[in-house]
Amino acid sequence: MRKTFAVTARDTSSAARTGKIRTPHGDIETPAFAPVASQGTVKALLHEQVENLGAQLILVNAYHLYLRPGLETIAESGGIHDFISWPKPILSDSGGFQIYSLTPLVKVTPEGVKFSSHLDGTKIFLRPEDVVDIQQSLGTDIAMALDYFLPFPSTKARLKEAVKLTSLWARRSKDRFLEKPARQQLWGITQGSVFWDLRQQSIEDLLAIEFDGYALGGLGIGEPKAELMETLEKADGLLPRDRPRYLMGMGYVEDIVEAIDRGIDLFDCVLPTRNARNGTLFSSRGKIVIKNQKYARDKRPIDAECGCYTCRHFSRAYLRHLYEREEISSAVLNTIHNLFFYLDIFHKIRQSIALDSYRELKRQLLNQLKESEP
Ligand SMILES: [Zn+2]
Repeated sequence: MRKTFAVTARDTSSAARTGKIRTPHGDIETPAFAPVASQGTVKALLHEQVENLGAQLILVNAYHLYLRPGLETIAESGGIHDFISWPKPILSDSGGFQIYSLTPLVKVTPEGVKFSSHLDGTKIFLRPEDVVDIQQSLGTDIAMALDYFLPFPSTKARLKEAVKLTSLWARRSKDRFLEKPARQQLWGITQGSVFWDLRQQSIEDLLAIEFDGYALGGLGIGEPKAELMETLEKADGLLPRDRPRYLMGMGYVEDIVEAIDRGIDLFDCVLPTRNARNGTLFSSRGKIVIKNQKYARDKRPIDAECGCYTCRHFSRAYLRHLYEREEISSAVLNTIHNLFFYLDIFHKIRQSIALDSYRELKRQLLNQLKESEP
């Protein structure tokens, strides 16, 4: 098995580690946060801005791009990197989550998943092999195998079935993936919610298949926090140390720092970008809802400790005005701040692990986040 990941430092008081994921478009230093660019763009920002904010990779959605603009259009441009003109690593989500959560009339059989397009109702049937083909055609750096995802709460019997099917599909995904020599990586997604016997089975099944990385799917969707953290802790003991671990869709900093403490390397979430467009801004002293009247004449930046372009130039009063007037620049400036806030935290996290002081940073971050709105 080729080596596409190396641990570079370990924190001795927790399971936190730094590492490097090697991809054809450069290295990703972990722990890393992938801004979501489902349609090939981080909403409200230019790629140049996303890069300057310190993003090491972006996440696109195979399902959305397969529907529109379609694989042929992207292939004609020479693949996803050339089509969207983003030079750094790209991870593609298989689209499983979107299929199960967005589309009507989903029917899952051992062969694959049948559903209607959420756009125009067209009937679509995708096998795990098709999902590998789609992502190989896109030419992303990291592709995800199709999993079977169930909402929370689901009965244990159904979750057991989902784990079984996910393992079967993972095997078929890997077989298909190996048919073409590729520099792309294929990662597997484990399921089983917070039932440890199911999650353990899922992890063991996928380890036997061997993937470049392992994702924990179906978490952060409403299960009790303590059970989620216990699952991560146990998974840390079972997952190989020399492969990256990806916790899909988890976005709150409070949860991210706990997950990193338990050995997670990669995250993605729409939270910083979506909240920015909704006028909810993160700061080192709690959240700011910029539309509130109390900011109407507030000359302070969002966060006095933040070094982003928005905080270096603009007051809360001005940002509130832009938001109230529904100016496009409101979404731009707010997204710059929120994404900087996230990426800067990840930068600090990597530094603290390298210095073997992760727990100290974690305590500090959690204390700050508990403070009320400034
Ligand atoms: Zn800022």
